[in-house]
Amino acid sequence: MSQRIENKVVVITGASSGLGEATARHLAAQGATVVLAARRADRIEGLAKELIAAGHKAKAVPTDVTDQDQVKNLVEVAVQEFDRIDVMLNNAGLMPLAPLERLKVDEWDRMIDVNIKGVLYGVAAALPYMKAQRSGHIINVSSVYGHVVDPGAAVYCATKFAVRALSEGLRKEVKPYNIRTTVISPGAVSTELLEHISEKDIQQGTKDFVGKIAVGPDTFARAVAFAINEPDDVDINEILFRPTAQLV
Ligand code: NDP
Repeated sequence: MSQRIENKVVVITGASSGLGEATARHLAAQGATVVLAARRADRIEGLAKELIAAGHKAKAVPTDVTDQDQVKNLVEVAVQEFDRIDVMLNNAGLMPLAPLERLKVDEWDRMIDVNIKGVLYGVAAALPYMKAQRSGHIINVSSVYGHVVDPGAAVYCATKFAVRALSEGLRKEVKPYNIRTTVISPGAVSTELLEHISEKDIQQGTKDFVGKIAVGPDTFARAVAFAINEPDDVDINEILFRPTAQLV
């Protein structure tokens, strides 16, 4: 248990797999109340049941982050059920890599909708409550690809650069309300992220690279816990981590 994580109400988008799921497990074990959001209701409901059976506090709220009303409802449910929201972890995202010339316009739209607009909807849903509480913590997930750009990753990188830009603006704007902001940029972590790359040659190449070096999702969960666990007057604004073996 951690004193500064215990009893905090933490809303996590993208909690049905990978980084979000690992973070839910880690924070619940530290005594946080976790509110789990994703589209795959069976996954988050199963996870909530498992956490509750282990003596933790959890609730699943099926949510598509591209729908602003659903994200608003997610935070409303968290506040109705647990009286407050301490942390909003805007983690849901996807990375269907492909060179621009392949014109995967539908995938560009989806990345913009989930990776940028989904994060903004999370901010919009949590901010009014955090302002009223005069406390809170918004954690947005960028990437090493929010710092560097590779061929084949232009649109994904653009969305993750955007997450860093909007997080920095948010950081400066919410100072008067005692709200903390963190942007976390992971390197290669083994999750389901590569399963949604539709171009098979790109998927294989990425799997070959990531498979050799990726670390487990608990790395990310520990980074989130570190940022939350700092005293209230410490605002951890940026965390960038890579597997030790990752060069780029
Ligand atoms: P996963 O594919 O394992 O998890 C992605 C999560 O996002 C799932 O829970 C998925 O849930 C959710 N999601 C996708 N679309 C939506 C939607 N429309 N509404 C709600 N939830 C949605 O990948 P990761 O855990 O790796 O990804 C988490 C975040 O980490 C992403 O933002 C990713 O860009 C970022 N990241 C990951 C890195 C890595 O190496 N793994 C490196 C750098 C950043 P569901 O399908 O059930 O809706």
